[in-house]
Amino acid sequence: MVERDREIVFDGLGVSPGIAIGPAHLSEAGALTIPEYTVRKSEIDAEKARFKLAVDRSGRQLRRLRDRARTTHGASGEDLGNLLDAYLQMLTGSRLVRGVERRIVEARVNAEAAVQSEISEIAHSFAELPDPYMAARADDVREAGARLIRNLTKAPFQAFSTLPHGCIILAEEFSPADAALMDPRHVGGFATVLGGPEGHTAIMARSLGIPAVLGASGLTLGARGADTVIVDGGGGTVIVNPTADTLREFVERREALRREKRRFARLRDLPAITRDETEIQLSANVELPLETALAMRHGAAGIGLLRSEFMFMNRETPPDEEEQYQKLYEMVVAMEGRPVTIRTLDVGGEKLAYSLGEQLSEAVNPALGLRAIRFSLKHPKLLEDQIAAILRVGAAGPVRILLPMIATTSEVRRVREVIDTVARRLKRRRVPIADPLPPVGIMIEVPGAALAADALARVADFFAIGTNDLTMYTLAIDRADEQVAHLYNPLHPAVLRLIQFTAEAALRARIPFSVCGEIAGDPRYTALLLGLGVRDLSMAASSLPRVKQRIRKLEINAATVRAQAIMEQGDIGRIATLLDDFNALA
Ligand code: PEP
Ligand code: MG
Repeated sequence: MVERDREIVFDGLGVSPGIAIGPAHLSEAGALTIPEYTVRKSEIDAEKARFKLAVDRSGRQLRRLRDRARTTHGASGEDLGNLLDAYLQMLTGSRLVRGVERRIVEARVNAEAAVQSEISEIAHSFAELPDPYMAARADDVREAGARLIRNLTKAPFQAFSTLPHGCIILAEEFSPADAALMDPRHVGGFATVLGGPEGHTAIMARSLGIPAVLGASGLTLGARGADTVIVDGGGGTVIVNPTADTLREFVERREALRREKRRFARLRDLPAITRDETEIQLSANVELPLETALAMRHGAAGIGLLRSEFMFMNRETPPDEEEQYQKLYEMVVAMEGRPVTIRTLDVGGEKLAYSLGEQLSEAVNPALGLRAIRFSLKHPKLLEDQIAAILRVGAAGPVRILLPMIATTSEVRRVREVIDTVARRLKRRRVPIADPLPPVGIMIEVPGAALAADALARVADFFAIGTNDLTMYTLAIDRADEQVAHLYNPLHPAVLRLIQFTAEAALRARIPFSVCGEIAGDPRYTALLLGLGVRDLSMAASSLPRVKQRIRKLEINAATVRAQAIMEQGDIGRIATLLDDFNALA
């Protein structure tokens, strides 16, 4: 609990720029509603299993929070780690687990009610102890119990629409699906304890233009009782209960950012062209339908990556062909004839869609498991529905089909067969579809695909280089894990060589290629990518003006010479210096 009016600063990872100031809302706080009902004898085992799942899940959460706390330097990190350890011990201590199971069996009550009674009894017995240290443990027990109940009753979807306007949401963790439910007109900003800078929650925040900080250790415990919070999504700090001076400083900074935004708006109709007249195609990455308006407002040449996962998130069942068609139709029409690159479903890994829950088994190593195209090929009906929706929407405007996480030529061939079959079926039924059929491209985001780019270029119509996953898989660093975030670096020579190799293979095969990972939207990397031969970039719509501004100051010849110098280096630090020095001058 913080003392009222005491300012506390939490450091985290700034993942979505902008400054938000507003009332705090702690997502896990608030009164717990505890359902109570009797379970039948035949349901007892199932109820015990449900409880066991909640215990496991709570344990996993606490362990991650504790490990995160321990990486925070100083005494506060140590204290926090010890506190979380205490919660963990309460949770895994056999007394609590055995007690709850006994109540489920003997009193035939549901797990939530059993946890509630057991916790009250244990907390009461602690509170009675003469030793003040032990008596204080009663709070730890209640805390562990509240977590268990939250995990037992957890609603699959969060409701943010009822929160006060402009509030700052603080939570342990948000999934990409949670973030997708935040309306930027309503939510001021958000901050979490867990999460990495290149995970999809971060990407979603950037797309929505909501200032966000992830990986801020101790935040949820430290911010209790806070009134006002500042989220500095560029600098990566969260300030709880700011003093009047701090508040004034951040209000001024927020104003400066607003002025910059207005200046950027003037770039909208200027071409993305270098000083020596090389034209660069700038498109938008889109996660949600509302972003097409933003893409148009920032002058995007089209949608270079439409992540179709949004249609499958925050719902009980997957959408059928017709629903997908309707949603895609609106987006294609909104782009007024500009090309829309629709990526087939990329679920699995950290992107778990609730509606596919049963089909997405808990893999031992989800990022290497049944993700993306592997999942689609395993579920032909889902793939056929999606392809049918895309082909139909192709009658309303130019579309391209993009396949995620391709590793082999046979995967592309198999999807092409599905496309041909679905097209024949639709034509037989006289349903209007794209004519000719849309180009079929592939994401290059697995190192093996980059190394086999020459072969893949023979079966693909275009490449989209996904540097987010390419970096993750090349360096074996989870893009969504805040603990290894400092190691994640697209400037690693191995990643750069794979980008270069892919670009050269595409140029040899004369097929179009783009970069659509997050580095495409960061002006720091623009000169390097252009120097490697990239002429097509796709990024969060809000990044378009900044990248365009960078392009208009560059000379392609100078960028090429610098890229060549960079590619001769083996040391990340040296590469970064060469790039940053060039950026400072040109
Ligand atoms: C990528 O991996 O770089 C990419 C653009 O796809 P996503 O971020 O959706 O995985
Ligand atoms: Mg990817």
